[in-house]
Amino acid sequence: MKIAVCVKHVPEGHGRIDPGSKRLDRSGEGALNHFDANAVEEALRLKGDGDGEVVVISMGPEKAADSLRKALAMGADRAVLVSDAAAEGSDLVATSKVLAGALAREEADLVLFGQQASDADGAVLWAAVAERLRRPVVSQAAEVTVTGDTVRVKRQTEFGYDVIETSLPAVVAVSDAINEPRYPSLKGIMGAKKKPFETLTLADTGVEPADAGDAGSKTEVLALGSPPARGDARKIEGDANAAQAIVDFLAEKRLV
Ligand SMILES: Cc1cc2nc3c(=O)[nH]c(=O)nc-3n(C[C@H](O)[C@H](O)[C@H](O)COP(=O)(O)OP(=O)(O)OC[C@H]3O[C@@H](n4cnc5c(N)ncnc54)[C@H](O)[C@@H]3O)c2cc1C
Repeated sequence: MKIAVCVKHVPEGHGRIDPGSKRLDRSGEGALNHFDANAVEEALRLKGDGDGEVVVISMGPEKAADSLRKALAMGADRAVLVSDAAAEGSDLVATSKVLAGALAREEADLVLFGQQASDADGAVLWAAVAERLRRPVVSQAAEVTVTGDTVRVKRQTEFGYDVIETSLPAVVAVSDAINEPRYPSLKGIMGAKKKPFETLTLADTGVEPADAGDAGSKTEVLALGSPPARGDARKIEGDANAAQAIVDFLAEKRLV
């Protein structure tokens, strides 16, 4: 079985919006979106010791290679990075076109996603990509079993679980409760350097420059602002006395 896993390289720490470009500030250090580590782990578990293949795919700046290498170090077999200046600034619609183009080349039996990206928190890309690939999609997977040409998913809901079965090829977005991702071993980290790593341009994915990046994005961020202040809110700055100030406040309200 061939499994493709989509992974995003996200800024480390708290996401910050750059007021100039009105985009996420990606200038600092980045890391593998931790929700996607669950998807990589699940792909490795499903492959087991069998002779399948796990290929990890990302669209992003050159630095996104670090996250793909981490997935390779965890045990993935091959990596594909779509990195092209013409794709910068892609919104959800444009991102889904590029990823669908990269995935179409792979013809994987199963495509796995994380539940959401920790920076933009859209939690929609898997549905958009599945629609473009014309494949069934199941989200919030807490358990995934593949038998022959069928994938069975225990789907987490507010009130319990749905059990959904669909035929392969399919798209599944896993929940972060599905597993505990492994840490890459030293052997894994060293071995990752020798694994196949392919870098694609937009043209390789079959997406026209007019359909990606700013040009292909139908959404535009017009303005950024803080939420309106609440009348009764009090802001306690993080100095050495902050903890005591919070305790005093809670005591004043008779909450402690
Ligand atoms: C005007 C505008 C400009 C934008 N410019 C940028 C930009 O320059 N760079 C940018 O990153 N975002 C940009 N965004 C945000 C962009 O829309 C989202 O990053 C993208 O749509 C995915 O949504 P998300 O990150 O919320 O992912 P979600 O839908 O939360 O992600 C779900 C899952 O999809 C997969 N996934 C998400 N992103 C990727 C990826 N890039 N590669 C592989 N797998 C992925 C992961 O498995 C993830 O767990 C922009 C948005 C707008 C409105």
